[in-house]
Amino acid sequence: MKLLFASDLDQTLIYSRRSMGSEVEEDELKEVERVEGKPQSFMTEKSQAALWSLGESTVFLPVTTRTQAQYERVTGIYEGEEPPQFAVTSNGAVILENGVPIREWSDRIRKQCVSRKTIIQELMPEVERHFSEDWVLRVREADDWFVYLIIDRERFPEENLGFYTETFRKIGWEMSLQGRKLYLMPESITKAGAMEYVKERIQADYVIAAGDSLLDRCLLESADVGILPAHGEAARSDIPMPEHIEITEKQGIKAGEEILERLAEVSCQFDK
Ligand SMILES: [Mg+2]
Repeated sequence: MKLLFASDLDQTLIYSRRSMGSEVEEDELKEVERVEGKPQSFMTEKSQAALWSLGESTVFLPVTTRTQAQYERVTGIYEGEEPPQFAVTSNGAVILENGVPIREWSDRIRKQCVSRKTIIQELMPEVERHFSEDWVLRVREADDWFVYLIIDRERFPEENLGFYTETFRKIGWEMSLQGRKLYLMPESITKAGAMEYVKERIQADYVIAAGDSLLDRCLLESADVGILPAHGEAARSDIPMPEHIEITEKQGIKAGEEILERLAEVSCQFDK
């Protein structure tokens, strides 16, 4: 029997100083990512130890919206030199196998995006039409797959979020607001789709998924057990929650610990 642990990284397993919350002591922290020489993301020592010592029957699959290059900076989620065999990056547009993107998978996603006209060139005029306001600080493209806006949260008209979400969904783009980033994601690029591919490849019998944002919703829905950190965008949304999705009691970096404790409970049954 094989258990697949498909998990988002940022604000699920790893945390920046801004997002970790106040319940953690400095000496509990382990640095897991460095950007331009500075520590950027952390786990607690307890979480890291749990993640490094998963049972033999458990396969860890990082499933992140980070691009491949951004993902490769996160070296503290595995022990030693060997990253997980598979990783999902760019929100599901890319699957890495031993560090190399699976061409056939990304080609398939690209074809879907082109045929549904959900490509960045088609999106940009709409972004300019709706988001000309002063709260958009920068517009970033992620490896030609999707777009995210760096926004000024103070000035962002939160009350219009529902309207924006509906407007962009009509033209095939899903929206997710995470801190200062507002993501616009083609409907064909999903974490669930990529996870299903890996599940099939490794012949997993059971899936536990974790993730904090609306982009993780589909991943949790297609798992056998889904875990939502209580602090996340998805836990706060009013979309009804299926029964197999649990919400953590703790928030911030301690929610990460709770997820890995829950995983350990299930995973030890698979090793019996
Ligand atoms: Mg996240």
